[in-house]
Amino acid sequence: MMSDLLTVRNLTKSFDENGPVVDRLDFEVREHEIFAMLGPSGCGKTTCLRLISGFEDADKGEVRLDGEVLESPQTHVAPQDRGIGFVFQDYALFPHLSVLENVAFGLTDIPKHKRLVYAEEVLCRTGMGDYKDRNPSELSGGQQQRVALARAIAPKPKLVLLDEPFSNLDAMLRDSMRKEVRELLKKAGMSALLVTHDQEEALSFADRIAVMNDGKIEQIGTPEEVYYNPKTKFVAQFLGRTNLFHADAQGGSQVATKLGPMNLNCNACGRVLCSIRPEHLTLEKPTNQKPENVGTVLGREFKGHDITYHVQLGEEKYLVHTDNRVLFEPNDAVVIKPLESAVILDESD
Ligand code: ATP
Repeated sequence: MMSDLLTVRNLTKSFDENGPVVDRLDFEVREHEIFAMLGPSGCGKTTCLRLISGFEDADKGEVRLDGEVLESPQTHVAPQDRGIGFVFQDYALFPHLSVLENVAFGLTDIPKHKRLVYAEEVLCRTGMGDYKDRNPSELSGGQQQRVALARAIAPKPKLVLLDEPFSNLDAMLRDSMRKEVRELLKKAGMSALLVTHDQEEALSFADRIAVMNDGKIEQIGTPEEVYYNPKTKFVAQFLGRTNLFHADAQGGSQVATKLGPMNLNCNACGRVLCSIRPEHLTLEKPTNQKPENVGTVLGREFKGHDITYHVQLGEEKYLVHTDNRVLFEPNDAVVIKPLESAVILDESD
């Protein structure tokens, strides 16, 4: 079990009378872990990063790094003394310094004559050694990002904070940079905290994800946990497309639904809100089914490697994600079969 590096307790911040934008956050980032805070625009992710990095003062709560209190109502360690690296959304490289000087800039702990040698070493690790004499303005977005990352990790911080670092890159480059940066952080054995509103980014980049809504964390888990076992309606919907429906549970782990009997992820009693991902449903041709279990294909989205069908069943519409072999046409009669259990959601939000 990895030990905790960053611990955030009850962290709270308001800017005005509109209430807290960061509301009693509790989470830990472990040694060597890549942790993502995922949520919609305005949910408080950047404010949380700014509190951790020291650019903002907390109203309540505590931030500790490796046991040392960095932020509390009594303590405010200056950003440059926190041992934290920062990669900003726009990279924020110094325009008047060369690439090499940018990376060497923060290396105040090592003797001057060794700084440039070490900075070049780090640049080479990010694949940017050949560009050391250029100015940041002479680099592409992806190259600037590698330099920003080199600058952040060069002083060997215990933790690197990444604020939407891939959002200025085009889709192809974004995918490869995510993979590259993840490998680099893992190789360096560093812990990182990423904020993003992009669920695919969080799912593919992070070891664990905190899903945020309106200043609060709704759920923390591995990508698989938050995707396949969402605890709330918000988490289920924010992480991808899903089918939501109500059912009357009788106390067991099965429930009668319009799709026929369906397994549940836990025993439940009473009226429950359920979620099942489109890829956990499949379509079959109807044979001897009750008419109420037979639906109609409304349309389909062909995406190359798979197809999403829109199916009307009674009053409700369902999304069904299948591989691209069996083709149904609009207006075809179909039966929807669950392949996995449905997940019960907390309906309080
Ligand atoms: P985005 O993804 O759009 O950057 P976010 O989740 O990072 O959003 P924050 O930037 O943390 O959200 O902002 C959360 C809320 O706090 C917003 O409503 C924002 O307007 C407000 N806010 C942020 N900084 C300040 C400030 N300095 N003064 C007043 N309000 C602020």
